[in-house]
Amino acid sequence: METKGFGQLVARAEKDSTVYCPICHKMLEVKAGQIIPRCCGKVMEEMK
Ligand SMILES: [Zn+2]
Repeated sequence: METKGFGQLVARAEKDSTVYCPICHKMLEVKAGQIIPRCCGKVMEEMK
């Protein structure tokens, strides 16, 4: 059961960037404004 309010929002990339999944370590490139994809049931994290 997840009650993170954060999970309700659709995250979008602020700029062209690379996102990764902290669970399986898959990496993907996203374009500015693109919805950040989910992986392993979680929104992927933007790399700084
Ligand atoms: Zn994953």
